Amino acid sequence: VIKTTWLRLIVAMALAFGVDGVHATAPLTPVAPVDGPRLVVLGTAQDGGLPQAGCSCERCTAARNDRSLHRAVASLAIWAPASDRVDLIDATPDIGEQLARVEAFRRAIPRPAPLPVIDRHPVNAIFLTHAHIGHYLGLAQLGFEALNTSAIPVYGSERMMAFLDKNAPWDQLVHRENIVLHPLAPGASVALAPGVSIEPLTVPHRAEYTDTFGYVIRGPRTTVLYIPDTDGWQSWKPGLGSVLDQKHVDLAILDGTFGDGAELPDRKMTSIGHPLMTETIELLSSRVASGRLRVYFTHLNHSNPALGPDPQFRQRIEAKGFRILADGQELGL
Ligand SMILES: [Zn+2]
Ligand SMILES: [Zn+2]
Ligand SMILES: [Zn+2]
Repeated sequence: VIKTTWLRLIVAMALAFGVDGVHATAPLTPVAPVDGPRLVVLGTAQDGGLPQAGCSCERCTAARNDRSLHRAVASLAIWAPASDRVDLIDATPDIGEQLARVEAFRRAIPRPAPLPVIDRHPVNAIFLTHAHIGHYLGLAQLGFEALNTSAIPVYGSERMMAFLDKNAPWDQLVHRENIVLHPLAPGASVALAPGVSIEPLTVPHRAEYTDTFGYVIRGPRTTVLYIPDTDGWQSWKPGLGSVLDQKHVDLAILDGTFGDGAELPDRKMTSIGHPLMTETIELLSSRVASGRLRVYFTHLNHSNPALGPDPQFRQRIEAKGFRILADGQELGL
């Protein structure tokens, strides 16, 4: 017991002084104890990132001129400090800076030997949602030409795993054993650390190459539903409400690609899919108002009015108790 208490104290001190913690948005409720498992938000932008290539809209221009407005592509780390375990959800085109953030918080933990200068096993496993560019292109950085990782377990749907196994250049990662594929069935829970597990569920979403998974992440105190990319909620059978009930979700991190539908004059919103933030708020407002559910939006498109510069849209969302997820934010599990 004394040893454990000591370890906790050291970890707590290291975290308090050694980690570049960013809390751009105050969480609705306090996070779990500092040595407990948590989610660390590695990115919150839609696949194209913020700023997006080739775009000079006011949000992209502002993000290009001010690094603090930059958002990496949507990804989460599931971190269990006591077990020294880190798992990623999705491998984005921004994986370089995202692994740097992971390394920063891992280095803050006392360990018998320091992490190697080149760490070919920077995370314990990667859980993929689907094969749209923002969600898996980062795997390329694990290959022979770059980090050359050693046997990182990669989990995803059967179709997603077959896609990587059968198509260049991804098949080379498999042949060279940079990654090891683990097909998962919806509902199959994977234990990550004591009291921490992850379970995939099938999500309706444009399926050009693969189907799409969302994930339920369970910690000792909190159950999180992570759905960064989905078609409108009307395509969900059963509905989102039943999933939240069945899985006993306390905190939902949901597709916030588009705000209110007025933002893309030259593209048909209905052909792109995605629930609007305003629709999600309408669907979940009574749960949020009663305190049964916390909701954060992620996967924000560069066109989303919640990104500013006018603060009114974001303020309207927050007035209803909903929040915009911030890069670097930590949410206790
Ligand atoms: Zn996406
Ligand atoms: Zn833009
Ligand atoms: Zn997608």
